[in-house]
Amino acid sequence: MCVKRGALTVAILRHGSGHTPGLRKRNEYCGVSGFISRHDVNHLLYFSLRALQHRGQESAGIAVYDGQKIVLHRGMGLVHQVFSKLILDSLKGTVGIGHVRYSTTGGSVEENAQPLHIYNLQHEIAIAHNGEIVNVSEIKSFLGKIGAAFTTKSDSEVIARLLSFHITRHGIVEGIKRTVRDLRGSFSLALLIDNRLFAVRDPLGIRPLAVGEIDGGFGIASESVAFHSIGGEFIRDVMPGEILELTPDGLITHHIFERKYKAHCMFEYVYFARADSIINGKCVYDVRRRIGQILAREHPADADFVVPVPDSGRAHALGYAEGSGIPYAEGLMKNRYVERTFILPSQETRVKEINLKLSPVKSVVDGKRIVLIDDSIVRGNTMRKIVRMLKQAGAREVHVRVGSPPIIAPCYLGIDMKTRDQFIANGKNIEEIAKAIEADSLGYISIDGLVEAIGIPKEHLCLGCLTARYPVPIDGEKIRFQSDLEDF
Ligand code: SF4
Repeated sequence: MCVKRGALTVAILRHGSGHTPGLRKRNEYCGVSGFISRHDVNHLLYFSLRALQHRGQESAGIAVYDGQKIVLHRGMGLVHQVFSKLILDSLKGTVGIGHVRYSTTGGSVEENAQPLHIYNLQHEIAIAHNGEIVNVSEIKSFLGKIGAAFTTKSDSEVIARLLSFHITRHGIVEGIKRTVRDLRGSFSLALLIDNRLFAVRDPLGIRPLAVGEIDGGFGIASESVAFHSIGGEFIRDVMPGEILELTPDGLITHHIFERKYKAHCMFEYVYFARADSIINGKCVYDVRRRIGQILAREHPADADFVVPVPDSGRAHALGYAEGSGIPYAEGLMKNRYVERTFILPSQETRVKEINLKLSPVKSVVDGKRIVLIDDSIVRGNTMRKIVRMLKQAGAREVHVRVGSPPIIAPCYLGIDMKTRDQFIANGKNIEEIAKAIEADSLGYISIDGLVEAIGIPKEHLCLGCLTARYPVPIDGEKIRFQSDLEDF
C-alpha cells in the first residue's frame, strides 16, 4: 500500500451559510458497495447489497464498467425485487458499484435511486453515497453559476457534479481531493470513474465504510458483513478522510485528510448497523451487549424476566440479563416479513405496522414483571404500543430500559430524525416520558455509559442528537468543539 500525504488543495468554495432549516429534502440513509476483480463483479455486488439491505429498502442499483462504458440498472424495491437473473447477468464487468437507499416522505422516487450516473467530455462517473451533505445550497449555487443543471433532488448529484467539475480541470485524483475539501457533512462514497474504483470517507468518519478482499480482487462496503456474505474477508475500515483506490492487485491510498477529532455516529452502534458488523474496530454486537450490562448497573429493576424488543434490542437485553442476573426470555415475537418500523416513510404507516410486526408470547409475560429493553426511543409510539401489548397479555409490570440516552435534537448527518417536536424526550422529564409510554419505570443509559460501551473516546464520537452539539457547522445549531469549526 502506498500512502501519500500532500498539501491540501485550495477550496473553491467559502463555507458559509450551508444548511437552510425547512428546505431539507434529501434525507438519506443508505448502503454502498464496490468491487474490482479479475472476474465479473455483478454477483458480488448483488449479494453485498443483500447483506446491506437493512440500510435501505426503498431502492437498489448496480453500475458496472463493461469494458467500454458504464452500464447501470436501478429500481424501486428490495434488491431481489429490482434484479432478476436476466438483468443481473446483463451487468457484466470486472469493476462496479452498488447502492441501497431509503428516503423520507417525498424523496422516495426512482429518479433519486442510485448509483447516479453522469458524463462530462472526458469521463463517465457513477457514484453511490451514504450520508448527508449540509452545504448543498452553497455548492449548488456555485455550480449553477457555471452552468451545471440538476436532474434530481439528491445531494449525491451535487457531489457528482462537483466531482465532474474538479476532475475535468485537475485530473481524477486531484479532482476527488478538491471535492472532499469542498463538502461539509457525512459521506461514505463508492466512485466508479470510467474503469477506476475509489472509496472516499469524510474526514470525520461519520458513516462507516469497510475494505475487504475477495478471490481475485478487492471491495468496499458500508459494513464488514457484506464481505462475509460473499466469502470474502474484511481487511480494515476506510480511514476517515481517506481517498482509496482499489485495483485487482491492491489498494492505493492517495490522500488522507486529517482532523483533530473524529465524529463516528453513535447510532450505528446503538441501532442501525447489523450486530455482526465491525465498525471503526468495534464489533457492534459486543457494544450492544456492553450497553445492556451498563444499563443494568445504572438502572437496576426488580423483575422476573428481561425481554428484548426484537431484533435490535436482543444484544442489549442479553447484556442486561448478564449484568442484572435476571433471566432472559423472548417475550415478543417478530414477523420477519414486515419492513423495519423506523424506516417506513410516514407516521401513519409506522403506527399501523407495529401490530403486524410484533406479538407477545403470553406464556412468558402473563403475571410476570418484565424489564423491556429496546435500543432507543425516538417518537415513543412504538414503545407505548408494545408496553400496552405486554400488559394486555397479562404482564404485571413493565419496566422499560433504553440502550441510547434520550434523543433530543435532529440529525443533519444522514439519519432520518428531523424535527425536534418528533422526539418524545424533547421537553419532557423521565417521569413524564414513562407516563406517556405507560411504563411502570423508565431508565436510559447515560451518555458516559454509552461512550464506555462503544469504547471510543467521547471526542471522536458524534453525539449530536443527544447533546444538540454537532461536529460540523450547521445554521442555528451549536458546534461541538471550537476546533471542529477551525477544521472547516
Ligand atoms: S446526530 Fe446522532 S444520528 Fe446523526 S450522525 Fe450524530 S450521532 Fe448519528
